[in-house]
Amino acid sequence: MFPSSSKSNSQLSLFIIFLLRSLPCFLARKTPGFTLDNPEISTVYNRTWYNVERFFNATRGSQVIGISEIKNHFHRFGYLTLQNDTFSDKFDTRFEAAIRSYQLKLGLATTGKLDYATVTQITEPRCGVPDTLHTLHATRRYVFFPGKPRWSRPMPMTLTYGFSPDNWINSLSISDIRVVFKRAFAKWASVIPVSFSETEDYGFADIKIGFYSGDHGDGEPFDGVLGVLAHSFSPESGRFHLDAAETWAVDFGTQKSEVAVDLESVATHEIGHLLGLGHSSVKEAVMYPSLKPRDRKVDLTVDDVEGVQALYGSNPKFRPGALLEFDISTNQAFDFRIRTSTWASNLALVVILYLYL
Ligand SMILES: [Zn+2]
Ligand SMILES: [Zn+2]
Repeated sequence: MFPSSSKSNSQLSLFIIFLLRSLPCFLARKTPGFTLDNPEISTVYNRTWYNVERFFNATRGSQVIGISEIKNHFHRFGYLTLQNDTFSDKFDTRFEAAIRSYQLKLGLATTGKLDYATVTQITEPRCGVPDTLHTLHATRRYVFFPGKPRWSRPMPMTLTYGFSPDNWINSLSISDIRVVFKRAFAKWASVIPVSFSETEDYGFADIKIGFYSGDHGDGEPFDGVLGVLAHSFSPESGRFHLDAAETWAVDFGTQKSEVAVDLESVATHEIGHLLGLGHSSVKEAVMYPSLKPRDRKVDLTVDDVEGVQALYGSNPKFRPGALLEFDISTNQAFDFRIRTSTWASNLALVVILYLYL
């Protein structure tokens, strides 16, 4: 009796230890998105996305105040066409189809419902370029713009870029911004036979970079802090616009704001558009449309590289083996592997101890 009881106590203790060790994993999965639990960000950004919990139980046929805003969001990014002058708050079949399409594109579970993951994704800051939906190659995750435009010059080609002297921000030094963009362009140049060089002659630059506020004349007004962070145009336009209202950061060590956005991550993403890539469904990819404040995503993944090489071919100096390093260095992918291995080690620990105690 006693030994048996001792064994069951040991098992109980081990099970509790297992649960405690596993707790961060559960919490990590349930941690709300930044817009739901961060007061500073909620204050500045949740003007539209307030009290998002009310959407969670909405189903087809129901009516919830604010669904029209989500419909506007879907309309803006390519998931829903406007049939009347305005959208209603009704959860109709077209809306349900748009949700499924959005979930499929963003790599979420296709539930057709406004579940937690979907609403959280909708509230995240993102690129202003509409999402290109997958049509032809369902197995690939990267996409091109309609018509597959690219810069049509003899290879290897050099594209020049310049900064608008009239559309600048004062919060960062010119030299810091130049360094960041040089690094971002170099990432893409390392995988394709295209090089980039900065020019002082902004008017003749192939790629024209500037920071703009609100309505700036191209029909795609910026919306203030967070929301849309930047947008750029498909080849061979070369226009690259960043929202001047963001707290742009080149170093999170010195820029402590909770709404700070990493300039290099956004620059790397927008250069992908300038070269001809649309938004990818791979969450770890640079070309995924959203980026949380204070997140950094500057390394090209396999998906990004395969996409851009399908347009321009490979840089002769490119080593395919380097892609693995790129993927592992991506924060989210690496974080996921750590979590997986923690789970596995917890499980192994319990099984081994159960067998031997
Ligand atoms: Zn984008
Ligand atoms: Zn613009």
